[in-house]
Amino acid sequence: MKRTTCAACGHPELDQFLDLGQSPIADAYTATADEESPIFPLQVAVCAKCKLVQLLEVVPAEALFGTGYSFYSSASAPLSAYHRAYADDVMARHGDLVTRRGVVEVGCNDGDLLRHFQHVRHLGVDPSTGPAAAAIERGCVVLPEPFGLLAAEQIRSIDSTFGVVIANHVLAHVEDVSDCLAGIAHLLHGGGVAIVEVQYLPDLLVNNAFDLVYHEHRNFFSLSNLEQAAQRHGLYVMNAELTNRQGGSLRVTLSPSHHFAAQPSRVTVLRASEGWLDSLSAYEGMQGRAERIRTRLLDLLAQHDQVAAYGAPAKLTTLLSFCGLDASTIRWCVDTTEAKQGRFIPGAGIPIVAPGTSERPDAYLLAAHNYLGPIVSANPGNRWIVPFPAPVIL
Ligand SMILES: [Zn+2]
Repeated sequence: MKRTTCAACGHPELDQFLDLGQSPIADAYTATADEESPIFPLQVAVCAKCKLVQLLEVVPAEALFGTGYSFYSSASAPLSAYHRAYADDVMARHGDLVTRRGVVEVGCNDGDLLRHFQHVRHLGVDPSTGPAAAAIERGCVVLPEPFGLLAAEQIRSIDSTFGVVIANHVLAHVEDVSDCLAGIAHLLHGGGVAIVEVQYLPDLLVNNAFDLVYHEHRNFFSLSNLEQAAQRHGLYVMNAELTNRQGGSLRVTLSPSHHFAAQPSRVTVLRASEGWLDSLSAYEGMQGRAERIRTRLLDLLAQHDQVAAYGAPAKLTTLLSFCGLDASTIRWCVDTTEAKQGRFIPGAGIPIVAPGTSERPDAYLLAAHNYLGPIVSANPGNRWIVPFPAPVIL
């Protein structure tokens, strides 16, 4: 189904600026090399009114987050460490609210962050069957359903409001941004804070990181477009800061009240730094840059006899699909996630293997390029092809 109105403000004018062709669902790793993967258009547009960047194709949630969904937060050691620090930060800043009124985590996945709040009143909400079951198994209280105003009303009808709502890399995944924010506002009802983290759109644009575009990522945020979307539901920006997750993320603290102390100056500085996003030219160069990256990457790959990929993140599917690459060029893919090992990259039929189980290729395509530093230093002596922000050999 193709979107005709903005996911945040409902405006009907969506300007398409990037067309990555047809691509499989990025996380739907297949059981065999030749198993057919359904493909869907991957086109990105910006709302002419609120500047929310969004996918035009809305793939049904069941297809994206059903039983095949294989992303488990706790499988990634760096992500688990990130969650521990995140929980410490929430306790340091809002410990009183957490203790008195409890925490809801929207999109709790397998409970990797929520487990740090198990000692207080807590609730996770997540529609992905496998990860939600894993969260329940580790002792978290979980509502295994999609989140929006309806779910928030259901929670309120059997429980009271909460002091802190965490939505960590969730708003990108929802079909209706407005409904999700309405649900968050409903859970807080007049007090408390929502801590919302999203991938940071300006970093994606500046780094040419078109591989971060895949069907699960329906929406892309800046402080400016997020602030507009939140204010429509009576949620106001208290604080905002940039973090390192996923190649550059934005963490925003929202409050249902205007009456908080002045915003830190970094919020004003950040907002001012986003002035360029008001112009369509901020988006329009992306297609040409993606195509130049494809040409250069194919050229670098052709210089090596045997290439494997390092890391099988969802974004690798977009990169391979857009570049027309399969197992004839990328022979195998090394990944530390057990659930992915023995499976294949959708659409490309590339086998995923555990580290240390294959020979050393002439070069690795560094798919998990957001972990460039740790991966390269932990695996010395290899040749690396790094695709972004412009393809280079290390
Ligand atoms: Zn809009």
